[in-house]
Formats: sequence, structure tokens, C-alpha cells
Amino acid sequence: MNYKGLTQTVEFSGIGIHTGEFSKVMLKPTNNNNVNFITEGKFISPNISNVVSTNRSTTIGIGDAKIFTVEHLMSALYCLYITGIDIIVEGKEIPAADGSARVFVEKIVMSKIIDIPNEIKVVKINDLIKYQINDACYEVLPADSFIISCELITDKSNFVNNQKLKIKITPETYTSQIAYAKTFCYLEEVEHLLSSGFGRGGNFENVILIDRNKVINPEVLTYNDDECVRHKILDFLGDLSLTNLYYLAEFRIVNPSHYANIEFCKQLLQILHSN
Ligand SMILES: [Zn+2]
Repeated sequence: MNYKGLTQTVEFSGIGIHTGEFSKVMLKPTNNNNVNFITEGKFISPNISNVVSTNRSTTIGIGDAKIFTVEHLMSALYCLYITGIDIIVEGKEIPAADGSARVFVEKIVMSKIIDIPNEIKVVKINDLIKYQINDACYEVLPADSFIISCELITDKSNFVNNQKLKIKITPETYTSQIAYAKTFCYLEEVEHLLSSGFGRGGNFENVILIDRNKVINPEVLTYNDDECVRHKILDFLGDLSLTNLYYLAEFRIVNPSHYANIEFCKQLLQILHSN
């Protein structure tokens, strides 16, 4: 299995979901075998040690230079096996687009992807790894492919509670089953979110708004009954990409959050390095 590269520059622009500010992002093909963010003239490598915040989204940074909400773009790059690019960000946040990874996947695929003669670094998991933090739980089991099983358990909404999905992740399944799943938010949290300075770019088109037993804007759903768990898998893949490794393993996760994902990834890397 080889990495893929871009043949031309790909551009996105729009409002960030949390800052509400306009930003422009360019993916420029390079001759390196890595992905680098560049903002304010600083290079920021997308890896776990550069994560500076996991509050509501995953933010990477070095010193004062920060890029908010990298997870949806990173998720798409990771699952399409893209490498060899500089990601030039003019602004503070990756654009929200429709709240999913749809626009990233579509523009990348449309730009003509090529095979790069570098084999993908895959780690085979041989022993069970378990990690629990707050109400989130992670298990990694040996498997012959890359599988994610995710389950959401919550008393906040009957719609979200018990959503679960097990899926083998390939570029094809990612594109058809995960990439179009939108961000969701509970109605009861909107006020607090806005007053804490988050969600300023959120609207009825880019967020699934959930009241106790119903979706307030069901017309934006792509996957109907289980879109929330699909989005949680999308987010998890974006956060897992920051380990810069691929896995032959099944990840069984319950109630993931960005904070829990990143803490889990730190543990995972520590365990892999000590073996
Ligand atoms: Zn997300």
C-alpha cells in the first residue's frame, strides 16, 4: 500500500466553525514525504506533540501560531493516504464548509491523485490495549485490516444514544460512509458554547442541531439514523492521524471526544515506543 500525492494545488476557503472568521487554505504538492501546516511563516507539523487545545475541536500550534479545527481536513488526508503537501493557512481556522469532510474529499479526489513510491507505515497490533478516560473508552485489538467500531451512550438525547457502527476503513468506505457526516451539537449547549467563544461560524447548514428526542434540522442529514456516530469516527480518524501511523487493528471506542482521543493517542504512542 502506497501513499498518494496531489498533482496540483487544491484550495478551500470559508468561515471557521468556532472563530466564525474567514480563512483560506491551500494544499500545495511538495517533494517531501510529509504533511506540514504553514501559518504566519511558521511550520507546524500535524502530530500529537503539537496539539495545544482539544476544547470542542483539535488545535495545533507552535508558540503564538495556531490553527484551529484541523481534524476534518486531517481525517480526509489520512484516509485518502495523502502525503507530500504543504498546507498553507491564511487565517486561524480550517474552514467549516458543510460541517463534514465532504468538500476536502471531493476537491482532493477531483484534483487527480497519484501514487507515490513510498510504502505506508503500518503498525500491526499484537496485544490488546485498553484505555479509559472520563466516560470515554478505547480498546485496540489485533485485526487483519483497519477497523473502527464506535458507540455513543448518552442521556442527553434519544436520537444520539446507542448509535453504533463498525466499519473497515479504506479510501472507498471512508468516502462513502464517513466523509459526509456532519458535526452535531445539542440545543441545550448552544448558549454556553457561544458565550464561551465557540461555534460562532455554526449555522443550520453546517451543524446537526439536536434537541432531546429529535433533530431540529433533519434536512441536513446525509446518513439519517446514525450520522452522529459516523461523525465521531470522522473526528477520531482526524485525531488518530496525528500519530502519523496506520494500523492493522480494530479500534473499539465508546463516547470519544477530542480531549479523550488525543490522550488515548499519547498512550498508544507510548505503548508502541516501549515495545
Ligand atoms: Zn468534527
